[in-house]
Amino acid sequence: MFIDIHTHRPHQEGIYSIQNRQEDYENCNTLYQYSIGMHPWYIDETNWKDIFAKMKLAGNKRNILAIGECGLDRLCDISFKIQQDVFIQHIQWANEIAKPIIIHCVKAHDEVLQLLNDNPCNVPVIFHGFNNKKEIADKLIKKGYFISFGKALFNPSVEIVFNTIPLENIFIETDDSDADIESIYCQAARIKNISLDQLSLQLKKNFKKVFNSTSF
Ligand SMILES: [Zn+2]
Repeated sequence: MFIDIHTHRPHQEGIYSIQNRQEDYENCNTLYQYSIGMHPWYIDETNWKDIFAKMKLAGNKRNILAIGECGLDRLCDISFKIQQDVFIQHIQWANEIAKPIIIHCVKAHDEVLQLLNDNPCNVPVIFHGFNNKKEIADKLIKKGYFISFGKALFNPSVEIVFNTIPLENIFIETDDSDADIESIYCQAARIKNISLDQLSLQLKKNFKKVFNSTSF
């Protein structure tokens, strides 16, 4: 059983995935698992508060496992100040309903860490789609955060960083890529020089810990 911690694809047989939704969360299939949140790219700058209030109504459902993806992105056109306000709302919401938070962060790690420091997050924090430097990964690990890796594991510089991260802090994801979860698992096991079974077992443990889950 593969666990895909963050994907934008429909559910597939044999894969336990958390499908991300930033809209249409009322129609989540009760058989599957989801995360819901406001991606920084798609924030409606004039109307986000109303949209956020509606989204919150869906958050208590049992199959909404996490809040997100949410966070900060220096490369998009949305006002950075509004991105920060919206991100703070996600932190507070995740605390209120005690669900882990999945973070999208592009060229804004210091700012995200600062906001997580100023608005303490009482739930597990997962930085998804990591493709950054070791110094940043070290800062996240030091705070006890989790880091999720996807297709970037096929990039040699990310491979080197991945190899330094404790297995207890990782997740694997497909995000919006066309790579399949099995190939990313295989690549992760190869980099860590462990078997696919060992990796799968560890990722199940990480999942149970973060999601307080008895699914496996
Ligand atoms: Zn995503």
